[in-house]
Amino acid sequence: MSELYDAEAPASEELFERARRVVPGGVNSPVRAFRGVGGTPRFMVRGKGCHMYDADDRRYIDLVSSWGPLILGHAHPAVINALSDAAVAGTSFGTPTPGEVALAEEIVARTPVESVRLVNSGTEATMSALRLARGATGRDLVVKFAGCYHGHVDGLLASAGSGVATLGLPDSPGVPAATAADTIVLPYNDIEAVRTAFAERGADIACVITEAAAGNMGVIAGADDFNKKLYQLCHANGALLILDEVMTGFRVGPGGVADQADLYTYGKVMGGGLPAAAFGGTAEVMNQLAPQGPVYQAGTLSGNPLACAAGLATLRQCTDEVYAHLDSYAERLSAMASQELTKAGVAHRVSAAGNMFSVFFTDAPVRDYTDAAKQDTAAYAAFFHEMLNRGVYLPPSAYEAWFVSAALDEAAMEHIAAALPFAAEAAARVNT
Ligand SMILES: *Cc1c(COP(=O)(O)O)cnc(C)c1O
Repeated sequence: MSELYDAEAPASEELFERARRVVPGGVNSPVRAFRGVGGTPRFMVRGKGCHMYDADDRRYIDLVSSWGPLILGHAHPAVINALSDAAVAGTSFGTPTPGEVALAEEIVARTPVESVRLVNSGTEATMSALRLARGATGRDLVVKFAGCYHGHVDGLLASAGSGVATLGLPDSPGVPAATAADTIVLPYNDIEAVRTAFAERGADIACVITEAAAGNMGVIAGADDFNKKLYQLCHANGALLILDEVMTGFRVGPGGVADQADLYTYGKVMGGGLPAAAFGGTAEVMNQLAPQGPVYQAGTLSGNPLACAAGLATLRQCTDEVYAHLDSYAERLSAMASQELTKAGVAHRVSAAGNMFSVFFTDAPVRDYTDAAKQDTAAYAAFFHEMLNRGVYLPPSAYEAWFVSAALDEAAMEHIAAALPFAAEAAARVNT
């Protein structure tokens, strides 16, 4: 059985009206605006487990998980208890606190980093890692890959994947030409292009930054030991490798992808649904930061007690069993979707990195952003809306990952299975 909601969502529409009067585009982050798929974004009011409820009190199975962070699902009791205890004890002190030490210890135990600094967002983490890499090497140039998103840092907005891709924007106005000139953009998974860049400008390259596995142009894993080869090339040329694990960290496994690098950035899952992020690396590089070293970086609310409590409670729940559950649900879900699309005759490719995956509506292999951009976004929009109206919340852009949570259960899988054939047929109808 698959119940069908009205295409209209009156309460969300009214809220969106109000929002647009006082907030640019009615949203506080562009990807929330449904611009890729059309229609009114749903305003959510509460969540429990794998479900969230909108302002019209419709229930959705959540396959976005707040764009990754909610790995345990909504309102997990362990997280809520830790949060309430922390809130009662005081929300911020502007001094060191025990909670941030515990969270840093947990991160160091789970990842390759020896030393870690907490910040408030993934953007702040990559911005700080970049400054540190430049400070440590005394060089200015940064290599990034087209379609990789590292937050809205000036120097990293060039060819930045999902948000700008969904809106069809060129690289953002407001980024100084001088800043953009310090960024070299290369195709993802193209190690020869990186080799050439080092051959031409190696003495000026401070670092290469890459998503540990790309998740912001849809999911595309590194091919043929891409990260490993990047590390070797960086080291042969006196540059640092920054592995951006803001999306993959603590999601695809206990620490993340965790390939060898000099600096790592984290966010999303490590905040358990609150704003927390981090960057870390070897003690040698990290000790270049103030007050130990000369590279400045700071934050009024960094290591906030509430965010640390939610993050630590979340990570402590993320056991091997939880990762096994996530892997198996992601695998089943992508197989189910693929099967229905095949039945409906819709060309598609499932592309995965651990328990993150995307369904690209294309019949060609997807290795980089150019390939990803060939997908049929209109077919995706039809697929998305049919799922939405049947109570399954997918990412509202074809350039985003589907995120499973540990709260998904068999009942949810049955609900999704019942909705999928309708969505596959809706996608099939787009080009006929
Ligand atoms: C989400 C994301 C960021 C930015 O994090 P914010 O908390 O949104 O600033 C950076 N890098 C990657 C890989 C991300 O997925």
